[in-house]
Amino acid sequence: MTYKAICLTFSVAVLGLNITAAQAQNDYPPLEICGNKAQGGIMRGHIDNAYKIYQNEKEISVSEAGDFLLAFGRDEAYQQSVRISYNIPEEDYPSDSYTFSITPTKWDIQKINGVAQSKVTPGESHRDEILRENQSVRKALSENNTTKSYWKQGFIEPLEKYRISGEFGGQRIINTIPKSPHRGLDMAAPLGTPIKAAADGVVKLSGGNFFYSGNMVIIDHGQGLHTMYAHMKDTSVKVGDEVKQGQIIGTVGQTGRATGAHLHWGASLNDTRFNPSSLLKLNDNSLCYKI
Ligand SMILES: [Zn+2]
Repeated sequence: MTYKAICLTFSVAVLGLNITAAQAQNDYPPLEICGNKAQGGIMRGHIDNAYKIYQNEKEISVSEAGDFLLAFGRDEAYQQSVRISYNIPEEDYPSDSYTFSITPTKWDIQKINGVAQSKVTPGESHRDEILRENQSVRKALSENNTTKSYWKQGFIEPLEKYRISGEFGGQRIINTIPKSPHRGLDMAAPLGTPIKAAADGVVKLSGGNFFYSGNMVIIDHGQGLHTMYAHMKDTSVKVGDEVKQGQIIGTVGQTGRATGAHLHWGASLNDTRFNPSSLLKLNDNSLCYKI
């Protein structure tokens, strides 16, 4: 039983009311969350004896060890809430609520010309191909059967040397047509450059030759966290493989909708796309906040 649970029991006994420690007094420790506290960021947290955790009243995954992740999408609300209910059935699973704000991020607008018109406004003939891509990606991202928290080791960049050719969250205007915001980070590198797994995990998709993403790898890092690697020339892993951080998973290509050789690096937490660069700050202890 943690201090928190003891404190709660004490409060209830003294006051004789069914209220939480948070409401009764503010002598419980604040919740610590670490990482990029901004739109497009991801943070980690840890709490003992949590039964369920909710971000903005939507239930999120909490591991048996008490670890959880919070991701903030491109257009995420600045005001955030985390509610933790504790595993005390006899007390009717009491909960504590925390609120905090995230930093707004200014997004980039990028103009790209010279893309084949057929790739900008796909014709009816590509409908089935696009459907196949969407379904494959959705399936790979929804298979959260990796309960192991691989992500705890932290992340590395998938390329050793690169040039950023497209920021996360930027809106592209391709051949003067505004497209939906960019959901990954474009890292330009020569064709055939080896791509490394950003962290340990299990491969959920490999290859595909998709209309937009070309050849792709999706790695499951546990608790709904995935990294995605698109436009690959080739892939050297298969679905079900357990990969190690730094392991070569394929090479940089120009497959799918791409104007040059680059890696589109993406990241998703339970279908919330966030900036994969934020993963590099997940274990940075100088970015811890008490809320
Ligand atoms: Zn991209």
